[in-house]
Amino acid sequence: MGRYKKCGETRGRDTGWVDLHTHTTASDGDLAPSALVEKAVHIGLRAVAITDHDTVDGIPEALARGKEAGLEVIPGVEVSVEAGGQRTFHLLGYFVDHESQELRSTLRDLQLARSRRNDMMLRRLADLGRPLDLAILAECQGGGLLGRPHMAQAMVRHGYVASVEEAFAKFLGKGRPAYVEKFRLGPVQAVSAVKRAGGVPVLAHPCTLNFETSSELETFVRWLAQEAGVVGIEVLYPDHTPADEALCRSLARRYDLVMTGGTDFHGVAKPRVALGWGRGTLRVPYDWARALRQRALSVSRQGVCS
Ligand code: AMP
Ligand code: ZN
Ligand code: FE
Ligand code: FE
Repeated sequence: MGRYKKCGETRGRDTGWVDLHTHTTASDGDLAPSALVEKAVHIGLRAVAITDHDTVDGIPEALARGKEAGLEVIPGVEVSVEAGGQRTFHLLGYFVDHESQELRSTLRDLQLARSRRNDMMLRRLADLGRPLDLAILAECQGGGLLGRPHMAQAMVRHGYVASVEEAFAKFLGKGRPAYVEKFRLGPVQAVSAVKRAGGVPVLAHPCTLNFETSSELETFVRWLAQEAGVVGIEVLYPDHTPADEALCRSLARRYDLVMTGGTDFHGVAKPRVALGWGRGTLRVPYDWARALRQRALSVSRQGVCS
């Protein structure tokens, strides 16, 4: 991490922790953007990135609250990507211009596809004898984009299942009877959508992608970095083991990827994951947010040719 430091910086200015992966009520988190920022201040974080699925609608509120509260808020987004065959992954985009019309239009396409997929899933649930009451679903939704975690919470409220985990395991998870595939961007399309909005494209939680071996993951990461234009890799993540973390650090070094980390905080949809600290021990240094900002500057200077 030292290689990202600029000359003349003192250690003191760089201390503190950040959370670079969070969801708000704009997607499937249960805290409003301003409440999430307040919580980040309360627990002593120095910066927080808002990375909602398929939307930047929570960003203005979070930025405004961050400004008032003196917390650095990094605008971000998380999109699902189809990488060919059965392979899918999540791409995080940091420091995106949330007012970019081009980005908003791409996200609108994803939102429309999501909405069609939601309708199909709700129909399947009804066919499976588990219809969801739309008023209950709306209460779980919290005003933003509807996603599977809201359906899972509504299923718990109906008494169909005992927990969100059970809802995914029995009905909503990939390959389960109510699951419907959703439209995803291709890797080059997704990377270019982030870069054209001035953002830094980062591979999210690589060790949750179920590669059989670390060398298969490496081949994939090499392709993303060298062909698709991905610029960073999420190293610190609650579901990453120490060995996963070490592997991601070495991939970052080998392919010159900026390292990020975050909790994927959602609130009730992931009740054991706390903002900032994940399952208790996650610590993402402020240096990493600085390095990410540096990369954002070089992405905007270079344009989108890589
Ligand atoms: P969607 O965008 O509607 O496909 O929903 C994706 C969200 O569902 C992500 O935020 C995941 O964290 C969450 N999710 C996926 N699988 C599970 C699971 N097995 N248990 C709990 N949450 C899950
Ligand atoms: Zn989510
Ligand atoms: Fe994700
Ligand atoms: Fe996420």
